[in-house]
Amino acid sequence: MAKGNIGVTSNDIFPIIKKFLYSDHEIFLREIVSNAVDATQKLKTLASVGEFKGELGDQTVHVKLDKKAKTITISDRGVGMTAEEIDKYINQIAFSGAEEFVKKYKDNAQAIIGHFGLGFYSSFMVSKKVEIITRSFREDAVPMRWTCDGTPEYTMEETKKEDRGTDIVLHIDSENKDFLEEARIQELLTKYCKFLPVPIAFGKKKEWKDGKEVETAEDNIINDTNPLWTRKPADLTDEDYKKFYRELYPMSDDPLFWIHLNVDYPFHLTGVLYFPKIKKNIDLQRNKIQLYSNQVFVTDSVEDIVPDYLTLLHGVIDSPDIPLNVSRSYLQSDGNVKKISGYITKKVADRLNDIFKKDRAQFEEKWDDLKVFIQYGMLSDEKFYERAEKFVLLKNVDGKYFTLDEYKNLVKANQEDKESSLIYLYTTNKDEQYSYIQSAKDKGYDVLLMDGQLDVHAISQLEQKLEKTRFVRVDSDTVDKLIQKDEHNEVTLTDEQRDALVAIFDSQMPEIEKTNFIVTFEHLSPASNPVFVTQNEFMRRMKDMSAMQGGMMSFYGEMPDSYNLVVNTAHPLIEKLLKDEESATKDKVEPIVKNLSDAESRKNALKESQKDKKDEEIPAAEKEELNDLQKKIDELTTEKKLVYKTYAGENTQVSQLIDLALLANNMLKGEALAKFVKRSVELL
Ligand code: ADP
Ligand code: MG
Repeated sequence: MAKGNIGVTSNDIFPIIKKFLYSDHEIFLREIVSNAVDATQKLKTLASVGEFKGELGDQTVHVKLDKKAKTITISDRGVGMTAEEIDKYINQIAFSGAEEFVKKYKDNAQAIIGHFGLGFYSSFMVSKKVEIITRSFREDAVPMRWTCDGTPEYTMEETKKEDRGTDIVLHIDSENKDFLEEARIQELLTKYCKFLPVPIAFGKKKEWKDGKEVETAEDNIINDTNPLWTRKPADLTDEDYKKFYRELYPMSDDPLFWIHLNVDYPFHLTGVLYFPKIKKNIDLQRNKIQLYSNQVFVTDSVEDIVPDYLTLLHGVIDSPDIPLNVSRSYLQSDGNVKKISGYITKKVADRLNDIFKKDRAQFEEKWDDLKVFIQYGMLSDEKFYERAEKFVLLKNVDGKYFTLDEYKNLVKANQEDKESSLIYLYTTNKDEQYSYIQSAKDKGYDVLLMDGQLDVHAISQLEQKLEKTRFVRVDSDTVDKLIQKDEHNEVTLTDEQRDALVAIFDSQMPEIEKTNFIVTFEHLSPASNPVFVTQNEFMRRMKDMSAMQGGMMSFYGEMPDSYNLVVNTAHPLIEKLLKDEESATKDKVEPIVKNLSDAESRKNALKESQKDKKDEEIPAAEKEELNDLQKKIDELTTEKKLVYKTYAGENTQVSQLIDLALLANNMLKGEALAKFVKRSVELL
């Protein structure tokens, strides 16, 4: 029998391992099982290059629990070890055989988990004694038995073992008895080994027979050797991704989207990230991204590996290049970790941009769920902001979505103040600020809905980033002062022009049941719409209230809806229409206006002379003349209106302007809509 000292300089290595190497004692099982998997994978590699010519056979790794003997045994049929190999790889702590193997067989190596040459010794965190019984795959190999009881001394001797491979026998110490419970081992295997690439059996499958649970002959395989992220995206369906998500997070809703990660250079990384449907904040804590290294679970606290906001995502990241067993501060300064974080950020942004471009409808549909995540990313990561700028959406109170550019274009004509800053109006509560929202809308303004958790921060960020743009809460001032405009916005029509435009638009309004329109004028920006529809605030609210209350209020419910047809006198089309109308109707209107004004002045003169007289003092002839004059004025007015009506009827532009305004309010229906379409085609 050989005896010796384990090759470390300090005798104190074991207490250090026990206490500090891993804060979690439970990872011993992960380390020993992954060594067994490594040994199995190595043999496969050697077979593939012709260095092993025997039968691979069943490669299952077996985990056995013996409560009486207080042992856990992990057996594999992998490469095994010769005496020299034990000496080199086990007796020399921190001399990792895995590292060496990977270097030698770079191009053929199956994924190897080990890296650091310390995994094996983690078994001493829970064992008072560890045995290795091993036989190398080499033909003339001598089986060896190695033992160590947690001091730097070991024993090594020849032994008997028929089959190639290794049994690791852990004699669990009294402080760690809970690891002798079947349920505990099952839990650990599920947590750490669920996706290992070699089948892992823990005892036998059980079934119910005659009211009792009995073992079957079949191995209880605890892992899926071919997890989704290791497969090609082209071979996977949406259902596969959803199924895998449920496997990871059994009680959760379906995810919104997913990203399949796959990179070879400058580091290796695979995985699938899911955008979850976040219902409550608690879900954020519960489900986390799981970090794997060659399919071995490492941790689900990935804070140091992915940017903070990405921790809201779910799924799996698998990278053999992340130094998993070292300290956090080391992780943060590690170059690979930084690159990985940058890569994932880019991938996530690209994927979102992709969905946005290819399927805007789907993107909008899921926006409310994505919003927190994207805002969080934009707020915490400059790079992500730059990428997300293109697809971040603003939602208005009518549930319409806009990109930043689209929104700017939407409001730039009508919501610029006199300092030429764009004012974005927003509400934080659609119900409480209802009336303010309505008056802003009546004025032709758009109002954004900003009621999310991060909106306050998002607003200040956008104010910094967007050029000359301010956000103003819709209830922060009276509607006229929300956006301070230049004073020259008065309507400067003559009475005659006003009459003409009212008559022209009135005469062409289509009939809409229970709806009235009043033509009004505003001198807005030339770039805002020439004609638009706003609803009379008072009437609408009365009607809404009557709908809710009935009774006395139902009187209002019977009344028609009253809308304003607002004509923007600053718009070039309206200016042109005025000029056009004046020259077209001049010949007919001028004599009427002349007669009207004659009649008016005669009427006024008569009234003036009668002012101080009593009724009986006024001569009958004068009374009659006054009556006649009034009749004449009415007739002339009607005649004038008819001239305008005739003109308007011949000018298709008038109807077109009205219909466009109605259309924008979703009020153009039925026959009127059909007429509009026909007319539009003719105009083309
Ligand atoms: P690492 O896995 O990081 O290399 P470990 O301390 O886990 O470090 O293992 C040290 C070495 O011991 C391994 O690299 C391997 O050469 C050898 N070894 C451990 N377990 C086995 C096993 N079951 N079969 C064959 N070799 C093993
Ligand atoms: Mg190892």
